[in-house]
Amino acid sequence: MSFDSLGLPEELLRAVKEQGYTKPSPIQEQAIPVILSGKDVMAAAQTGTGKTAGFTLPLLANLMKGERAKANQVRVLILTPTRELAAQIHESVCNYGQNLPLRSAVVFGGVKINPQMQLLRRGVDVLVATPGRLLDLYQQNAVRFKQLEVLVLDEADRMLDMGFIHDIKRIIKFLPEKRQNLLFSATFSNDIRKLAKGLVNDPVEISVSPRNTTAESVTQFIYEVDKTKKSPLLSTLIKENKWKQVLVFSKTKHGANRLVKQLEGRGILSAAIHGNKSQAARTRALASFKEGKITVLVATDIAARGIDIDQLEQVVNFDLPHVSEDYVHRIGRTGRAGNKGEAISLVCEDEFKLLKDIEKLIKKIIPRKVQPGFEPGTPLPPSVLDSREAKPKKPKKPRVEHKDGQRTGANNGARQSRVRSNFVGK
Ligand code: ADP
Ligand code: MG
Repeated sequence: MSFDSLGLPEELLRAVKEQGYTKPSPIQEQAIPVILSGKDVMAAAQTGTGKTAGFTLPLLANLMKGERAKANQVRVLILTPTRELAAQIHESVCNYGQNLPLRSAVVFGGVKINPQMQLLRRGVDVLVATPGRLLDLYQQNAVRFKQLEVLVLDEADRMLDMGFIHDIKRIIKFLPEKRQNLLFSATFSNDIRKLAKGLVNDPVEISVSPRNTTAESVTQFIYEVDKTKKSPLLSTLIKENKWKQVLVFSKTKHGANRLVKQLEGRGILSAAIHGNKSQAARTRALASFKEGKITVLVATDIAARGIDIDQLEQVVNFDLPHVSEDYVHRIGRTGRAGNKGEAISLVCEDEFKLLKDIEKLIKKIIPRKVQPGFEPGTPLPPSVLDSREAKPKKPKKPRVEHKDGQRTGANNGARQSRVRSNFVGK
């Protein structure tokens, strides 16, 4: 399967080639023709599977048809939970759309609203936004949805976890009823299905991996260690293994700051990103990390969500997450797009319960190690996978899987009647 056979226009194929992509990922293979056809989609795929291009490419293709965005109007609205994710998706929109005369913008909170209002004045074909800031802009009449054709909810599960449900419901009320809806999520939880009910119409369901499994390309293990020794152990591991780029997860903002201080004290260049940092500081930290100017980026779960770093090989869980699903999201930061990755968790005795929950969720026992010189005073009890404890699975709704040869309906949707327009400007 190559990108050429998916029905994408030449301008997009060229941009994809420039990104160095040789063939579509499974989610892209399935989602692109369906989205091109104008149908609603509900897609579940683990992180790093290429969901962004999976929806951006066909949406850009559809936007080439139809009338350009008028003043303050938006044609495709992409909602996503965090600022970092919004910025990243917008970057992808710009990359994939580089040969198209479309206008796009990204808006999120924590920065001045006025420049964003200016940006929206001429209208944009694609707007990437976090829900809170979008509502602010709407209330100030800076954005209008008369021309809205498509709503995308990216990382929908995370948006629910972060309490955006009411914002999302309010936003949906402002949108024209006739529109295409795309819902992307790492997993389909019951809450996601509930949200979907009031949102998508007769959606094509796409699912490329079973729920809550961890990527095969990621090697996982645990270092058993006492709580007070975690920070020196991390420094030792970084130095001994000569790690160049490590993403470290911390449970708390305070813990993240403290760890950065300690690492810096041992000569390891580090920075933290979390909700208490200004947007400028977060952007700067991420850029320094991507450019290799710092070795360690310490992040809280929310700040790290969806961050895409090319070829990140090392992820460290300094603390285990309290929500087991976060473990899957965290280690999904490495081993992306087929690269090899390693995810290490530093686990102390009082985290055993969290470890047990994680192992139950991912249905495997994570191999353990002890670093010489860091033997724990109180060892962890052994893990046992007790399948009887697992909750009985609810019967799943039948799924429409889009496989090769079944892709009927592509390109015969309502969006074919659009008039092509020429317009310039970015
Ligand atoms: P997700 O949203 O599923 O977590 P992303 O869309 O962020 O995943 O993509 C993860 C990484 O894979 C990005 O670095 C992206 O550039 C890369 N990628 C996407 N599609 C392809 C492809 N077809 N071939 C190679 N790399 C790809
Ligand atoms: Mg994504």
